[in-house]
Amino acid sequence: MKYVGAHVSASGGVENAPLNALKIGAKAFALFTKNQRQWVAKPLTQKSIDAFKANLKEANIDPKHVLPHDSYLINLGHPESQKLQKSRDAFIDELFRCHQLGLDKLNFHPGSHLVKIPKRAKDYEEQLHKAEIDCLEVIAESMNIAIEATKDTNVKLVIENTAGQGTNLGYKFEHLAFLIDRVEDKSRVGVCIDTCHTFTAGYDFRTQKSYEEATALFDEIVGFEYLCGMHINDSKVPLGSRVDRHHSLGKGELGWEPFRLIMNDPRLDDIPLILETIDEELWPQEIRELYNLIQDK
Ligand SMILES: [Zn+2]
Ligand SMILES: [Zn+2]
Repeated sequence: MKYVGAHVSASGGVENAPLNALKIGAKAFALFTKNQRQWVAKPLTQKSIDAFKANLKEANIDPKHVLPHDSYLINLGHPESQKLQKSRDAFIDELFRCHQLGLDKLNFHPGSHLVKIPKRAKDYEEQLHKAEIDCLEVIAESMNIAIEATKDTNVKLVIENTAGQGTNLGYKFEHLAFLIDRVEDKSRVGVCIDTCHTFTAGYDFRTQKSYEEATALFDEIVGFEYLCGMHINDSKVPLGSRVDRHHSLGKGELGWEPFRLIMNDPRLDDIPLILETIDEELWPQEIRELYNLIQDK
């Protein structure tokens, strides 16, 4: 079974998110459990937690098909210690919020190294590689600290692949594998693959053949057993452009074919498939169209 939804609004309280998902015909959804542009948030009230759980039931959505997304402010690989600490504290707080809501995943972007390397430097490639590896080590350490701090919960740290814009890490499957490798408790780690990010990071999957190659590569380097969810977006920008610009399905560089392949891939059953496309008016239609792509239903 496929579980398609979208990143819905939680404005007015997290309890509104399942109802917003229900309205668009979603069987899964993503949400922010706090304002994603602020560091500090009020703790969730018991009333809000109870209402969230009741509304999930009403929307007929299983908690395992909910994929919360962390705040954009968090950088678990920050090179400055104070800002790193702030990020780690905020991330741990978000893991607890997910746990309070009865959810078992938290989706996050690995982090950014923020090192400025002059393009004309003779050893540019070498410096870049070092900055990336050092940052990945810090992210792995952040993940182990967060897992230890929340060891009485079962919330998975779900690493999202990125487009590799600026100094963002996570644009290579190897980055995801590097982090998984260093996480001590493998039961607490997973990955989320964003179709737009994958494509603009340089992996093509627009045809049956390239789809098979890209997914085989993912399986070899990361492993489907770690895949906990996907973000389903078309891309405004071309293959390998390393820029993160989502588009509505079928309107961008990807077109419909990769989404047909995704909807008919049994390896992607039973995980949340989340739209983050740019026109939310289209979400009900996009969800319907995705389901219509399934052959022999
Ligand atoms: Zn994301
Ligand atoms: Zn994106």
